[in-house]
Amino acid sequence: MRVPRAYICGMTLHIPFDNSFAALPAGFHARLNPTPVEAPSLIAFNQPLADQLGLTGGDEAELAQIFAGNAVPDGAEPLAQLYSGHQFGQYNPQLGDGRAILLGETVGKDGVRRDIQLKGSGRTPFSRSGDGRAWLGPVLREYIVSEAMAALGVPSTRALAAVRTGEPVYRETALPGAVLTRVAASHLRVGTFQVFSARRDVDALRQLFDYTVARHYPDAQTPGDLLRKVIEAQANLVAQWMSLGFIHGVMNTDNCAISGETIDYGPCAFMDTYHPETVFSSIDRHGRYAYGAQADVIVWNMAQLATALVPLCEDTEQTIEEFTQLVHGMPDLIRAAWLRRFGAKIGLADPQAEDATLIMDLLTRMAGNQADFTNTFRALLDGGARDQFTDPTAFDAWEATWTARVSDEASPETVMAAANPAFIPRNHRIEQMIAAAVDGDDSYFHHLHHVLSRPFETQPDAVELTHPPQPDEVVQATFCGT
Ligand code: AMP
Ligand code: MG
Repeated sequence: MRVPRAYICGMTLHIPFDNSFAALPAGFHARLNPTPVEAPSLIAFNQPLADQLGLTGGDEAELAQIFAGNAVPDGAEPLAQLYSGHQFGQYNPQLGDGRAILLGETVGKDGVRRDIQLKGSGRTPFSRSGDGRAWLGPVLREYIVSEAMAALGVPSTRALAAVRTGEPVYRETALPGAVLTRVAASHLRVGTFQVFSARRDVDALRQLFDYTVARHYPDAQTPGDLLRKVIEAQANLVAQWMSLGFIHGVMNTDNCAISGETIDYGPCAFMDTYHPETVFSSIDRHGRYAYGAQADVIVWNMAQLATALVPLCEDTEQTIEEFTQLVHGMPDLIRAAWLRRFGAKIGLADPQAEDATLIMDLLTRMAGNQADFTNTFRALLDGGARDQFTDPTAFDAWEATWTARVSDEASPETVMAAANPAFIPRNHRIEQMIAAAVDGDDSYFHHLHHVLSRPFETQPDAVELTHPPQPDEVVQATFCGT
């Protein structure tokens, strides 16, 4: 039974939409409503985020209808966005929102404009052979991981709601369907610039540039300014990912946000045991997006953005020269951000270039001793770090040098406590959470979400969430949501 659209009569949820993307020319998007689903039921609604966005009202049944796409709220202008991108290095001239619909934007209490988007809301003109749907697993995974990232202080898209559709989704087997409502500073991607640039549609490219500058980087005057800002944001972002052991998994240019937020949580994962070559994504056969490759890949992605921006400039030769310098300067920015982040992890408020050797030495010893990334750094605070090493003397040798180095720091414990979380969304816990939810039990989802909302706090009741997986719990591969 399809729920009739008339259901929206008497709706009490108010979303103060203030849309800007919908006003861009028709070539930027396809206007269409989400496809209704059979039997929506609400799994989660992020009330603090809703408050921040300015949402009011709405009972549970209504929220389920709206965030399943069965009812279109007043003021929404639903659309699917066009973009393209390089996937694993190959340019795909047309991607676009194949299973997502932007409802519109709100300007929150903090004055920030944010997108509200349904993901898994049915087919669009950009769906190609896809069904436009998502199954419960990736929806809950994105909800947990994106909210954990935000709580860890990482720029990230957020999760506003998760809804079961009451319909099956067919992958290798039939799985329960779900819709995620995602909130983002915007959904502008490197690939949004690429699509118009590749088509040599300079008018559209210029409109996109003006729109992006006004929305994200109002100080930027030129394409070079914009490139520099995005490079800075992405350099900081990737360094922050690395400092938490996070592996995005699919750093295609369409999954790279101009805002500098982490976006498109697919086969992402936090490492347990530290090793720079760690890869989880089942489709990343050559380790293109391995943990330790991320700093190189983001530079490659910024080179694609630079290329896409060139047609906006008159003097091509001079522009290429300028952009090349910006892109070539990025590794130094990443190194500096990496040093700040990892310096803090070992208690240094103001790390110096030569401290990189000390940090690298620890990481090398960790990699050689199957040390758990998160627990080793956290245990620097309480003296338990050596227990994380298969050969604890490998830590002792490093500790002597480290102790000497931090001895003249004012308060290394404070610095470390703010940089080394106790809790990360570990893969095996996510898999256990999804398995329970598929069986209809959402309590573990709510428990994970609750604990991960305060990742730097010691929470003795939740100590099991700090444990690395037992051998039979290790997750070998993670999968895209498709
Ligand atoms: P992703 O790997 O999630 O970043 O998606 C890459 C592209 O495939 C994007 O254009 C998505 O919109 C599209 N896509 C992914 N899953 C589906 C699906 N189930 N139905 C339609 N399009 C999809
Ligand atoms: Mg994507």
